[in-house]
Amino acid sequence: MSEPDPSASAADREARTDDGLASFGYRDVPRAEKAGLVREVFESVAPRYDLMNDLMSGGVHRLWKNALVDVVNPRAGERLLDVAGGTGDIAFRLARRVEEKGRARADVTVCDINPAMLRVGRDRAIDRGLLQGLTWAAGDAENLPFPDRAFDAYTIAFGLRNVTDIDQALREAWRVLKPGGRYYCLEFSKVTSAPVGRLYDAYSERALPFFGRIVAHDAESYRYLHESIRRFPPQRELAARLRRAGFAQVAWRNMTLGVVALHSGWRI
Ligand code: SAM
Repeated sequence: MSEPDPSASAADREARTDDGLASFGYRDVPRAEKAGLVREVFESVAPRYDLMNDLMSGGVHRLWKNALVDVVNPRAGERLLDVAGGTGDIAFRLARRVEEKGRARADVTVCDINPAMLRVGRDRAIDRGLLQGLTWAAGDAENLPFPDRAFDAYTIAFGLRNVTDIDQALREAWRVLKPGGRYYCLEFSKVTSAPVGRLYDAYSERALPFFGRIVAHDAESYRYLHESIRRFPPQRELAARLRRAGFAQVAWRNMTLGVVALHSGWRI
C-alpha cells in the first residue's frame, strides 16, 4: 500500500489504477482488495447509516435525494434499478412517486454489494409498509446480476465513488439499460466556489470522523468516506467517462454549489 498525495490529479490517479492499484480513501490498495475493504466500511456503518446521513448533512441529503427523484420522474410501468441502493432511501422515494402519480405499483430493484445494508433496507421497507413493488438483490455494480436491456432507468446515489472500477460500473449501467433508458448518478463532487470549498473540506475532514467516533463508534470508516469524496472525479471528468461508456446527451447539474452533482445520460 502507498500513501499518495490527496490532491493528485485525476490522470495521476488513473495511471496508478493501471498499475493494479485502486484508491481506498487516500491510500492506494491492490485492486482485488478494495471491494472487501469497502464492504467492511459499510458493514460497520449499516446500523447507524441513516442517522449519520442526517447528522453529517444536517438533513440536506434528503433534499438532494428528492431532487434526484424529481429528475428521474418515474412512471408506472417502468422498470427501475437503484444500484448501491443501501438502505433503500432512493428506492422508497421512487416507489412512492410512482404510486402517488398513477396509483400503480412501482417496479424498483435495489441492488447493493453489501447484505448488511440490504438487511437494514428491507427492515425499513417493512416498517413503512412498503411490501410490494420492491425487489432486493445482492450484486456488484461492476458485474450486475441482470440481463442486457432490462431497465428503463438506472440510479446510483453516493455509490459510484465506492466501486473499484468506475468505468466498468458505467459500462454495466449501459448494458442493463434498454435503448431509450436513462442513467442518473448523484454523487459528491467538486465545490464550485474556492472559499466555500475550503470551508467544506475543513468541515468534512473533521466532522465526518468526529460524528463517526461519537455516534457510530467508528471514526476510521468515516475518514474513508471523507477521503473517497476528495478523490472522486470532478463533474467534467465524470461526464467524459459517461460518454466514453456509450451514454449520449450527458449533462450534470450542481447542487449546493457542487457539493453534490447529478449526472445524467441516455442509452440510445
Ligand atoms: N444509495 C444509498 C443512499 O444514497 O443512501 C446508499 C449509499 S452508501 C454511501 C454506498 C453504498 O454503496 C453502500 O450500501 C455500499 O454497500 C454500496 N456499494 C459499495 N460498493 C459497491 C459495489 N461495487 N456494487 C454495489 N454496491 C456497492
